[in-house]
Amino acid sequence: MSLFCDEKFKFLQKHPFIAEIEENCFVGYVAGRFKLQIILPDFPQLDNINIAVFDAQTTPPTKESNPDASAILAILSQLEQLKKEHHCQVHINSSLSQLKLSRFKGDDQHFLELARASETAFSVISHSLPDLGSSVELFMYPAAPEAHTTQFVRVLEQLEEFYSNLNTLDQLCYVVDPTEVDTRLTWRIIKFSQKVFLKITLHPLQPSSIEVAFIGPTDEIELLREQYNGKLEDWDPDSDVYTNMLRIFEIMSFPMRTEDEADAIDCGICMSHRDDRGKIPIVSCDNEKCSLVFHIDCMKQWFLSLKESKTFFAISIGTCPYCKQKLSSSFDMLLRCL
Ligand SMILES: [Zn+2]
Ligand SMILES: [Zn+2]
Repeated sequence: MSLFCDEKFKFLQKHPFIAEIEENCFVGYVAGRFKLQIILPDFPQLDNINIAVFDAQTTPPTKESNPDASAILAILSQLEQLKKEHHCQVHINSSLSQLKLSRFKGDDQHFLELARASETAFSVISHSLPDLGSSVELFMYPAAPEAHTTQFVRVLEQLEEFYSNLNTLDQLCYVVDPTEVDTRLTWRIIKFSQKVFLKITLHPLQPSSIEVAFIGPTDEIELLREQYNGKLEDWDPDSDVYTNMLRIFEIMSFPMRTEDEADAIDCGICMSHRDDRGKIPIVSCDNEKCSLVFHIDCMKQWFLSLKESKTFFAISIGTCPYCKQKLSSSFDMLLRCL
């Protein structure tokens, strides 16, 4: 018995933040953040050991899955290391089956969520990065949290220019969509003129490769498309997307957001500025004298009610509900992204 007590004494001395709360049942903190509950019914033998690890903020669970103790300690020390190396926050659930890493170097937006796939390997269940296409085998297989995090941080560094380009558009243009920042999106719809909007899509890993879709009256966007295609070869890879766009369209700046929404133009169908999904009207007809603009959803409903509306190659063609002149739009492309 004295030998057992000796062993316990040594164990408790080695782990000053762990206390014995009942006979052979220990509770305490590891690495300042993780609470550890160890039950050793056959102490000093480690047979039937029961270890539960949970976030220091949460209540101890009554019954926990019982992964191998050394595996838990290996994961915990790995997480501590990751916190230090990447200056991130680590959240862990009570059974150590799910992890969330966030606030990488103080960045609020990015995160990586992992779920335990086996004793020490985790699968990525969610993250804040855009779709990088099939060329990048990102997070395909279960791996140690360390491997996933290292890869995540490496990709984040590769995306620096991509995010910087999007950030400039957000700051210096009137972005009508998306209405909220989502780090997974690769596009912005910006206002170009009263009736013309541009949808700019960036390739996350090739900053100078962009796609521009034009939304507006047919004649106006035809001219802009020609101008864009004609000047595309002058693209300066040393300048950002915003600067290149200004040069291509020969303008000094893009329209900025008007602070006062009372001045904003309402949809000619539902008479409101923002629709149920928070979107603003951006579709207009080909009649220069018609000043109305419409929500995409409202216009799609209007077209469905028209006998003479048609769709060719994803472009829907119908008539303006106000002046009855031609109105065409690629609703499906727009609705897919909006
Ligand atoms: Zn509407
Ligand atoms: Zn019209």
